[in-house]
Amino acid sequence: MDATTKETRKTIESKQAALRVLHAELDACRACAGMIGPVVHGPPVASRILLIGQAPGPHEGKLGRPFAWTAGKTLFRWFEESIGCTEEEFRDHVYMAAVARCFPGKAPGGGDRRPDRQEIAACETFLAREVAILEPRLVLAVGTLAIATVLGESPKLADLIGTMRRVRYHNVALDVVALPHPSGASPWHKVEPGKTLLRRALALVAEHPETRRAFGSVLRRGA
Ligand code: SF4
Repeated sequence: MDATTKETRKTIESKQAALRVLHAELDACRACAGMIGPVVHGPPVASRILLIGQAPGPHEGKLGRPFAWTAGKTLFRWFEESIGCTEEEFRDHVYMAAVARCFPGKAPGGGDRRPDRQEIAACETFLAREVAILEPRLVLAVGTLAIATVLGESPKLADLIGTMRRVRYHNVALDVVALPHPSGASPWHKVEPGKTLLRRALALVAEHPETRRAFGSVLRRGA
């Protein structure tokens, strides 16, 4: 093993160790009285691609991983069609986080409740630490709440999906590709112009240098 490989392995191991500590704190977190546990997070993947969703749904807690239900099926199909990776390959190569890590319960009108401002602020402390540990180069912001959290503004989906923004997020300069939420609650991505804009956004993800680096072996297999 050469010195660079040794150094890289050391960096990955130290990031994984820091993420394990953070996950233990997340597991023990009870900061939000209105949230329904358990806390949901993925494994400590030392990736420079960070996916941020809104919050787990009612099924993710018992399955113990993010995007484990129907929205996930759509999301992973998008990545399979664009990057060429399976769901498990995506989970192995991308760190999956969310604006809130507990299920917020149902909203009075149906659908999942959107986390409130205090809950977002409470959980943002974990996101900030994850960004500091991972130093991501690419953030995939999934759904309007995640997009607003990362960009600090809520542009119209039609103005944003299919573009890439360079921003500073928690003091790290990174690229952001926004994606619509795949939950099916909104048909935005199923009708034009959403369909075309989503295709453009997924092409941006697939062509990004960090995706090509992270999924190099997967891409070579498909070549
Ligand atoms: S949503 Fe986040 S801050 Fe609130 S209890 Fe769950 S893990 Fe803690």
